[in-house]
Amino acid sequence: MPRYTHFGERYTRTTGAVELMSDLGDAAAAATRGPVYLLGGGNPARIPAVEAVYRRRLAEIAADTTQFGRFAGAYSEPSGHPACRAAIAAALQAEYGWPLEARNVALTAGSQSAFYVLFNLFAGPGTNGARQRVLLPLAPEYIGYSGLNMQDDLIVAHPAVLDELPGGVFKYRLDFEQLEVPADVGAICVSRPTNPSGNVLTTPELERLDLLAQRHRVPLIVDAAYGKPFPGIEFTDSMAFWNDNVVLCLSLSKLGLPGVRTGVVVAHESIIEAITAFNATAALAPPGTGAEIVAPLIASGELSALCNDVVRPFYRARCAFAVAALRDAFAALPLRIHAPEGAFFLWLWFPGLPITSAELYRRLKRCGVYVISGHHFFPGLDRDWRHRDECVRINYAQEPEMVSEGIRLIAAEVARAYDEGC
Ligand code: PLP
Repeated sequence: MPRYTHFGERYTRTTGAVELMSDLGDAAAAATRGPVYLLGGGNPARIPAVEAVYRRRLAEIAADTTQFGRFAGAYSEPSGHPACRAAIAAALQAEYGWPLEARNVALTAGSQSAFYVLFNLFAGPGTNGARQRVLLPLAPEYIGYSGLNMQDDLIVAHPAVLDELPGGVFKYRLDFEQLEVPADVGAICVSRPTNPSGNVLTTPELERLDLLAQRHRVPLIVDAAYGKPFPGIEFTDSMAFWNDNVVLCLSLSKLGLPGVRTGVVVAHESIIEAITAFNATAALAPPGTGAEIVAPLIASGELSALCNDVVRPFYRARCAFAVAALRDAFAALPLRIHAPEGAFFLWLWFPGLPITSAELYRRLKRCGVYVISGHHFFPGLDRDWRHRDECVRINYAQEPEMVSEGIRLIAAEVARAYDEGC
């Protein structure tokens, strides 16, 4: 056995993200043996009208030596493809009036690797030796924020207030009254739409959070992997939000390009410089592939039109379909669904479930149904909350037949647990 360092021990453990990504591979293998229902993971839908645009771009790139050079024939700058960064800055300035230039934008090898850098820039031992942590003010939060740091206790989370709404729906709310920002917090971070719940923080809520961050002289990280400006999978009337205290993280993944591993960070240039230096040291440069595909689509407005006219309506329809399938399958069971305001997940709460969500996940996996157990989505929450073992996240981006059959099988397993009390 090789003798690993502390780093080796940390980054080879089974985290929620490792389990989730391994399930994607296992499920593909299991699919060769029998039916599987892929309601776990974060894969986006394969939308033909969207893929047609990317395939057109690939043909253009293949036919043009200059474009091919930027795509794959040369390293890009460590801050990422210059024309893509300039196009993103210009598009955001035109749409929202934010005073941005290319030097406010960096690309990374997927936004997950941006979070690796950001969580290590703002949490860990400070240069003066004192510990800094990241505050997640609205737990449950994204599974992928845990395990990024060399120590375990560098995330502190605040539980959401849970409002029950009519019609078997509930919604998490940011608990500003109880929210405290400990003195050692180095950044505040939210995903918007929230993964797992699909909650979309309102602009006033973000403004209030940003004021709190500014008062504590820390940045507010807004993870808009599913949100505006792209892919824009938000079903509420919301606005994108940025100022130079905000680190806005975007991704090409949920636009249908997870394979090109391209994340985007929009921030004050000092943070962009830090990310650029990290890119150069850890990977020399981020990939140019995704950036070359989308740069002209962003500059011409075609990507924005695609998000508004195709991507958002597609997911809205898939969401309505999945909610109807749940209502049908769970008619006799105590299911609550988090108000689906964005992203492509439904967050299901089974009040009083006699087994843990982790056990439910294992039982479902034996039937070929892949979901994500809710307990993974509470990084940094140290208090007992039964709720965290009563929820699962399902992805409704896959084919409707797969989603409805998967939901039917989940309902059967949940009914069995309630009936048998274990
Ligand atoms: N942020 C959120 C909320 C996510 O759900 C994901 C992936 O599922 C990411 C960031 C990372 O995405 P990627 O590294 O593919 O850009």
